This record gives sequence, structure tokens and C-alpha cells, in this order.
Amino acid sequence: MKQSEDQNMLVDVSELLVQNIGASESLSFNEKFHFIEFVSKSNLKFEIELFRIEEGIAVLFSNVELKVEHNCDKCISKVTQDLHIDKFESIFYTQKPSSIDDPFDMHMIDLKNKEIDLSEPLRQEIILSAPILLLCKEKCKGLCSSCGQNMNISTCNCKKNLDNTYDKEQNKPFSNLKELLNQ
Ligand SMILES: [Zn+2]
Ligand SMILES: [Zn+2]
Repeated sequence: MKQSEDQNMLVDVSELLVQNIGASESLSFNEKFHFIEFVSKSNLKFEIELFRIEEGIAVLFSNVELKVEHNCDKCISKVTQDLHIDKFESIFYTQKPSSIDDPFDMHMIDLKNKEIDLSEPLRQEIILSAPILLLCKEKCKGLCSSCGQNMNISTCNCKKNLDNTYDKEQNKPFSNLKELLNQ
């Protein structure tokens, strides 16, 4: 597996392409990889199994692990989070299929170089697995909406003048969702 300068993660599939349907190959990856959309704080680790199928090559990813850094959604301080994706599958086609459900999920084999680029399906899956709302701590007080002071560090003088409705229970979609799931 090799990384290119424009952030691709290329796998040589020249041998698999000339094999019969059903042939497979396994690989693992454990290296730094830079995604534009988020800051990686660890090596990106995963295993893949490649299968020669009629349409091209199916790739089964497993045990994807990566530490990513986000900003807290309330106070914008940095938070490191462990992402883990158990399994997902992607198909790389030799020819554009005539009908496909989700065009974002379609990947092509580079037939000239006999390579596939794993970075796109990984990027999509990692973004999907990240939480919608991420806080640095459960009771993050956020920033003062008036002066921008981080209320976890100290208070400011404008707070008492404001009707601060942000922390009320109905404004916490994530914890409400958790309560529903626990029922
Ligand atoms: Zn915070
Ligand atoms: Zn303030």
C-alpha cells in the first residue's frame, strides 16, 4: 500500500484483477494518514480483505481505528476522540454500473495503473461514524454568547444580564437521545 502526495491511499490490484472470481487477498495498514477534514492524532489502523468479484473488486474493511481531534461544540476547546469501526464494505468497479443506488458510494478501479484508492471510502465512513455533537466534558458550560469567555475557565460579568437558555434540558438533543436509547 502506498500513499500519494494528493492524499490517496493506493493499493496495487494488478494480480487480483487477472485472477478468477472468488480469489482474495488480505492486507493491513498501520501508518500516519492525513485527512483534510479532521486532525489525526494517531496512526490509522485497519485490515482489509480484497475479493475479486464480477463487477471488479470488493473490499471488506475491518477494525478501523483512529484517534481524531475535534473542537468541543460548545466551548471550541480541543477534544481527542477514539474512533472504532468494526466492519464495512466498498466495491470498486471496473466499469461504471448502469444503475446504482448511491453515487457517493461508487468507486472505480484505476485500470491504467491497476490501483484502487482506499482513502475515499475510509473518509466517508469515518465522517459517518463521528458523533453529531461532541463536547469536551458532559457538563461543558460553553462560551459566553456575549463576550466569548470560556465559562469552564472563569465567569464574566455579562452573564447575569443575559437570559441564558442554552443550558436548559430541552436544548440537549444528544442527552435526550441517549435517554431514549436507555429505555
Ligand atoms: Zn467544551
Ligand atoms: Zn461574557
